[in-house]
Amino acid sequence: MARLTIDRVSKTFGNYRALDAVSMEVRDGEFLAVLGPSGCGKTTLLRQIAGFDQIDDGEIRIGDTVVSDARRHVPPEHRRVGIVFQSYALWPHMSVFDNVAYGLKVAGVKDPERTRRVKEALALVGLEAFAECRPGLLSGGQRQRVALARCLVTEPSLVLLDEPLANLDVHLRAAMEDEFARFHERTATTMIYITHDQAEAMALADRIAVMDRGRLLQIATPSDLFRQPANETVARFIGEGMVLPAEVGAADSEGRCQGRIYGLEVSLRASPLQKAGHAKVCLRARDLAIAGPGQTGLSAHIVRTVYQGGFFRLEASLVRAPDVTVHLAVPEPFHHGPGDVVDIVVNDGWVLPAPTES
Ligand code: ATP
Repeated sequence: MARLTIDRVSKTFGNYRALDAVSMEVRDGEFLAVLGPSGCGKTTLLRQIAGFDQIDDGEIRIGDTVVSDARRHVPPEHRRVGIVFQSYALWPHMSVFDNVAYGLKVAGVKDPERTRRVKEALALVGLEAFAECRPGLLSGGQRQRVALARCLVTEPSLVLLDEPLANLDVHLRAAMEDEFARFHERTATTMIYITHDQAEAMALADRIAVMDRGRLLQIATPSDLFRQPANETVARFIGEGMVLPAEVGAADSEGRCQGRIYGLEVSLRASPLQKAGHAKVCLRARDLAIAGPGQTGLSAHIVRTVYQGGFFRLEASLVRAPDVTVHLAVPEPFHHGPGDVVDIVVNDGWVLPAPTES
């Protein structure tokens, strides 16, 4: 297993900068998800790590070995990188066993070692009993496990997974998420997992790298990403964050400050370096609640209520800023509907760090 270092890597297609000085360090044995909207550069990043393209600028290291820079380019077959695609890419005419054995055969690994390693890999993904089956007889989840076994049998130093669950139905996805998590625990393989599904990334990853338009916006644990987004784009993208303007005081050493959102006094979390002044605040649905007796809140017109089993998702536009819509979960019973005015208290929020010039 190996650490992966991506240092100011850029990749341009014609005039389009698909990767713009992306830097990140993936620890040995870490499970990193790369998350971002369609076209943000996830697959391009994965292709540079795998060595399918030559980078324009920067450096990629696997362990201590430089595999890409502006002049050097180690070909994919010499990188010891395993890849699992969303289209399993299995050979239909070969048995599961032969599909998994193929890479070893090409690499000149002879029996009995070859058979031993194939059996081990199939055991890791729980498919020993299917060794002689053709892939066509397997379910989507099982096929993806064959693809995983085929990748692991070559003992890669890191594994790249390109939306491996995208072709599976919702139930199978959840089951496979568990499998991937257990699998990662057992093997401690360094894994880079590309996805645009944030629930999947949150469930699986040690850390998540959020990308947008070829840039890395933030790399952090799922919890830090949710609680302390680095900027407005991450705040809105992750967990449907609401971004509102505020006036804030300077933060104390514990990272707390007082602020005002549309005139409402609120207590907020912030970087201890936060200075007093104008700021933007990220609010989560769980930070908001309907005001109880004696509490002051932001007055808002209810726009929509959607029953979601035990609670309603309530969307409301602020009386003081009608173009600002907030949303929150309200437990049942709740007897208000569209057009009614409610008061919404703000129990917590995160002051977004001031943008830096780049
Ligand atoms: P998706 O989630 O839809 O797969 P992505 O985040 O993986 O998207 P990429 O496939 O990395 O995005 O593409 C990033 C941008 O680079 C896109 O605008 C794409 O059109 C462009 N691009 C990627 N490969 C090429 C290429 N070979 N030639 C020209 N443009 C390319």
